[in-house]
Amino acid sequence: MPVRGMLVRLTDAWQETLARRAANTTTGAYPAPVRQLLGEMAAAGVLMQGNIKFNGALILQIFGDGPVKVGVVEVQPDLSLRATCTQQGEVADDATLSQMVNVNNQGRCAITLDPKDRLPGQQPYQGVVPLFGDQGEKLENISEVLEHYMLQSEQLDTVLVLAADDQVAAGLLIQRLPMEGEGNLAADSVAREAMLGRSEDFSRIAILAKSLKREELLTLDAETVLHRLFWEEPLARFEPLAGETGPRFACSCSLERVGQMIRSLGVAEAESIIAEQGQIEVACEFCGAQYRFDPVDAAGLFIDKPLPLDPGTSMH
Ligand SMILES: [Zn+2]
Repeated sequence: MPVRGMLVRLTDAWQETLARRAANTTTGAYPAPVRQLLGEMAAAGVLMQGNIKFNGALILQIFGDGPVKVGVVEVQPDLSLRATCTQQGEVADDATLSQMVNVNNQGRCAITLDPKDRLPGQQPYQGVVPLFGDQGEKLENISEVLEHYMLQSEQLDTVLVLAADDQVAAGLLIQRLPMEGEGNLAADSVAREAMLGRSEDFSRIAILAKSLKREELLTLDAETVLHRLFWEEPLARFEPLAGETGPRFACSCSLERVGQMIRSLGVAEAESIIAEQGQIEVACEFCGAQYRFDPVDAAGLFIDKPLPLDPGTSMH
């Protein structure tokens, strides 16, 4: 059948993301609705990267106009991932997606594909989708937002079921695969019949996938989920990717990258921070690592090249 599926279940990687956030004394832990949103984005990011196998980072972002300002999930080709969310103000325990990120209809979601060996001047590919459905209604599930995106960008019908709590971030993706010669099927009635039959396969499997409850996705292992949903369907299974080949937490921050970021602020800004605080201190939002630049380190950032030695003063 021209249908493919993928199931992800993040445990260690997700728990580490949450633990590092909880250990941050400035921000503290995420409130439950933010945790659910970011966990669902993390599961979706892994599914999308696994699905397209992009040779570069897949970055899933939500830009909110409510108390949640930015949510980011970055998944590398080897499925290592990191995620963070920036929040300003209170998030109620029962806050919906629109109450967090789409209060004034300005919220949006962006999917960026950043090629690994980007040429100078080459821009990453980015798709932006609003947080509204076809009838102009505010969407309340990030899965619906991403289904829209995939229909737009890949022209493929997609079903996404996502769920996250403080232990697990999980997701199921079902996608209708394009058929050979799908564009010119009108001529041959036999071919058309066959096509419609295959399209019914997708509809049936999509309905089965949508019947999966969040609770089931969070508590059942992959084997049980597949059996419950698709026990009447012929399944071609692949080896699960786990451990070092599977999704895992990893942060790509470094002293050098933080230095570049400070350089981009400009020397005046850097000097004013040092005048005020005595040093420049930067914490990585993804992993919590602390980077400190004292006045000497900071000054060093703005020296482009080592000064050429004056031949007149060289020693003999
Ligand atoms: Zn980091």
